[in-house]
Amino acid sequence: MKRLLLAALLCLALPAAAQDIREANEYGGSSFSLSGKATQGGLLIGKTKPNSRVRANGVDLQLASNGVFLIGFGRDYDSSVVEVVVTAPDQSATETRSIPVLPRVFDVQSITGVAQKYVEPPQEDLKRIAEERRVIAEARARAADASDFEAGFIWPVEGPISGVFGSQRIFNGQPRAPHNGVDIAAGRGSTVVAASRGIVTLAEKNLFFNGNVVIVDHGLSLSTVYVHLDEITVRKGQRVNIGEPIGKVGATGRVTGPHLHWGANVAGQAIDPQLLVGPMVQR
Ligand SMILES: [Zn+2]
Repeated sequence: MKRLLLAALLCLALPAAAQDIREANEYGGSSFSLSGKATQGGLLIGKTKPNSRVRANGVDLQLASNGVFLIGFGRDYDSSVVEVVVTAPDQSATETRSIPVLPRVFDVQSITGVAQKYVEPPQEDLKRIAEERRVIAEARARAADASDFEAGFIWPVEGPISGVFGSQRIFNGQPRAPHNGVDIAAGRGSTVVAASRGIVTLAEKNLFFNGNVVIVDHGLSLSTVYVHLDEITVRKGQRVNIGEPIGKVGATGRVTGPHLHWGANVAGQAIDPQLLVGPMVQR
């Protein structure tokens, strides 16, 4: 048991998802493996026998037909552990593991010079904003029996990080929702690539806050979003490989300059995309 726990802890320290899964498969004798980062904004990728029943804190999780499952932790995940219970397909055995979930401290980011219509949207735009939120939620809610994310994750573009996940945002002096992605300050026209393999579920222009936006679904309700694009070079329904170009960096929507807002979402909640990739190696 001690060795198992140690293996789990070692595994949690590894950065890239694909690599984690290979390492995690070395668990001997255990009915499931977990890899990734158990922390606020983090993601665990699990693997067990196909057709098992998997629960996290009592909630049933979707299992891909290859036995892979995901446990996402939102920014405000308020428990210090997650209890994972896996029941074998023939119900002959149940294994329970409690994984510590580490809290994080989020900073406050004050941004000025934002056009006032993005801080207090005019009455006539509220209907449109609500409709765009619905379309985005729908594009993320696919719950496909796929685990394209096993290809791993890469940075969609490289450049200085100008905004991190989770920070409390203050626009023109007014508090707004926490930042739900990472901002990469690349120049306008820089190529944006898909962070992992998947299917394009949204390729829309001129959304109120997001401007031109692409969403790629990676399976099991895990998706990534690419916001404020200058140009979109994929279409809805298109399959993309990891590293395949999907658009260009721009300054559309609520921005103060060209950058890519990159977000990740699992089962309806935002997670920190920066935790899916290793450190950025700028060329
Ligand atoms: Zn952003």
